[in-house]
Amino acid sequence: MANYDLIVIGSGPGGYVAAIRAAQLGLKTACVEGRETLGGTCLNIGCIPSKAMLHATHSLHEAEHNFVKMGLKGKSPSVDWDQMKAYKQDVVDQNTKGVEFLLKKNKVDWIKGWASIPEAGKVKVGDEVHEAKNIIIASGSEPSSVPGAEVTIDEKIVVTSTGALDLPKVPKKMVVIGAGVIGLELGSVYKRLGTEVHVIEYLDQITPGMDSDVQKGLLKILKKQGLEFTLGAAVSKVETLKTKAKVTYKLRKDDSEHTVDADVVLVATGRKPYTDGLGLDALGVETSPRGQIKTDAQWRTNVPGVYAIGDAIDGPMLAHKAEDEGMAAAEVIAGKHGHVNYGVIPGVIYTTPEVASVGKTEEQLKEEGVNYKVGKFSFMGNGRAKAVFQGDGFVKLLADKDTDRILGCHIIGPAAGDLIHEICVGMEFGASAEDIALTCHAHPTFSEAVREAALACGDGAIHM
Ligand code: FAD
Repeated sequence: MANYDLIVIGSGPGGYVAAIRAAQLGLKTACVEGRETLGGTCLNIGCIPSKAMLHATHSLHEAEHNFVKMGLKGKSPSVDWDQMKAYKQDVVDQNTKGVEFLLKKNKVDWIKGWASIPEAGKVKVGDEVHEAKNIIIASGSEPSSVPGAEVTIDEKIVVTSTGALDLPKVPKKMVVIGAGVIGLELGSVYKRLGTEVHVIEYLDQITPGMDSDVQKGLLKILKKQGLEFTLGAAVSKVETLKTKAKVTYKLRKDDSEHTVDADVVLVATGRKPYTDGLGLDALGVETSPRGQIKTDAQWRTNVPGVYAIGDAIDGPMLAHKAEDEGMAAAEVIAGKHGHVNYGVIPGVIYTTPEVASVGKTEEQLKEEGVNYKVGKFSFMGNGRAKAVFQGDGFVKLLADKDTDRILGCHIIGPAAGDLIHEICVGMEFGASAEDIALTCHAHPTFSEAVREAALACGDGAIHM
């Protein structure tokens, strides 16, 4: 048993970042993790392995489709699936070991095992009870099932993202239930590997909550890449038949029932907070009907000394949101001023082309009655994008019509996930579209498209 200023439960991007920041601020800190390795969902079975698979399969796509165009001839690569998965695991291992190194470097104790909170100020792991002045719950999330449908997930034929990242072989046909970020990213991975991919989505559009120009643009691009979509369809049943599955769905417009067979069904209908085993009910920690731990603006739960962050609480389920909350909560506990600006949290989809978004969508601005203007620029007018076969997509900048202040930005295009940060920084500084338009951007770069969209908010883009 040991006494700590802070014990963090969970070592995902929320938990390990909170622990490191707390230790940097002089708090005696421990981080409890039940998994064998550190890094949480993100490093082990989420962001990192999925990006490795996206990179590998994008490289394959380049070799198959674009190398010859560039005069690169020769035997085209074939897929060694086991080697691709070994590469992915190596990337995961490097990252999880990196977190282990960082915890050691910052003198954070790693307590191995599953934690519960028998009472405020105490964390139980196995038979040991540790004392902690403060506790941060960063226990993350787990996949949710298909609402109102009969589905049994076996992680072999009917899988979540976890199973989809570790299939024994590349399936011939995959049905993806849910056209959100995870479904589209993993659907793209398998499409590039030659799988026939059919995405079934309940809503009438993909990527719920995103700007409608992005929804329409990305749908068109993904269809062009060969993914099949059925929108406005409610899945009612997924039956497993030895080596296959049968998916039954109803089209919402006419109630007609349809079935489709697949070798693998990926259930990608979202995630829900994971708080099992923590003893929250007995402790009296309040949760929402969706299972999210309720907190105030400084991540305090209703139980004194117990904080919560990341996927386990309200807000977008994103690694960088969890990290920011981790840093800020640690600062609050250390007596400093921790802050997260929830109005400037970017969201990225790592398909090719990438999609990135920050701030308000056009639909939100309309709903709020804001007087706004739109500056849009197509990557077709960007020399660098055309050179790398990525002229599809656009930058759409939304600014206040009266003050020119940037309100949001939505990008489909090469390196969109990096380009968006120029706008994030601008928004944090209260920048106007003209500030971006007057900033010299290096040529030839993808970021010139962001500047052109800003110019389009004013007197007009140059290259369009
Ligand atoms: P988690 O990362 O879930 O970590 C929680 C940890 O707590 C886990 O390791 C768990 O074992 C541990 N734990 C839980 N309960 C206990 C307990 N009682 N005792 C001890 N340990 C416990 N987000 C992005 O921003 N970008 C992406 O590209 C991205 N891609 C994703 C791809 C996939 C396939 C998935 C599934 C998710 C992706 N996400 C992405 C989401 C991202 O992974 C999560 O938002 C992020 O991991 C949340 O961090 P967290 O610290 O709150 O929780």
